[in-house]
Amino acid sequence: DLASRWATSRVRTIPDFPKKGIQFRDITTLLADAKGFRKAVDELVQPYVGVSIDKVAGIEARGFILGGAIAHQLACGFIPIRKPGKLPYRTIGESYQLEYGEDRLEMHEDAVRSGDLVLLTDDLIATGGTAKAAIKLIRQAGGTVVAACFAIDLPDLGGAQKIRDMGVEVMTLCA
Ligand code: IMP
Repeated sequence: DLASRWATSRVRTIPDFPKKGIQFRDITTLLADAKGFRKAVDELVQPYVGVSIDKVAGIEARGFILGGAIAHQLACGFIPIRKPGKLPYRTIGESYQLEYGEDRLEMHEDAVRSGDLVLLTDDLIATGGTAKAAIKLIRQAGGTVVAACFAIDLPDLGGAQKIRDMGVEVMTLCA
C-alpha cells in the first residue's frame, strides 16, 4: 500500500555491506527524514493503539531507535535487549545460531515481570533468529509477546513466518 511504498522509497540499499554479497538495508535515511520517521512509527504503532501493552522491547541497536519512539507513543515502558556484556545489572541470555557461528542476546533479569504484555521491535527481520531469541528471553522472564513489529521484512528468508509459528503476531512496514 501507499505507506509501505512510501517507507520503502526512503530505505537505502548498500551492496556488499558488511561483507561481499550482502545487500544491506539501511534505515538511517528513513530515520533522518522528519516525515519518514514519524510516519514509519505511526504506521507501526497503529494496530496497537488501545491494545493492552506494558512494555516495548527493542533489539540492539536500531531496535532502540524505533522502540523508544514506539514506547513513547503507546505510553509504555521500554526495555533494551542487548549484545553480550553491555547491560550493567544481572542478566538472562539466549544464544542462537548464525549462518557462520553463534550470537547471543541478553536482557536484565528484572526487565520483564511475570505477566507483562510486551511488544517486540527491531529494524529488520531476515531469518528470524534474532527475534526468536528475543521472544524466548521475554517468555523465560514470564512475559507474553503480544506482537513483533519491524520496519523491514525480507520475506524470502522466512523469518516473519517463523515468528508467527511461535504464536506471535507480526507487523512489518515494508518488504
Ligand atoms: P535475522 O536474525 O536473520 O532475522 O536478522 C535480523 C537482525 O540482523 C536484526 O537485528 C537486523 O538489525 C540485522 N540485519 C540483518 N540484515 C540487515 C540489513 O540488511 N539491514 C539492517 N539490519 C540487518
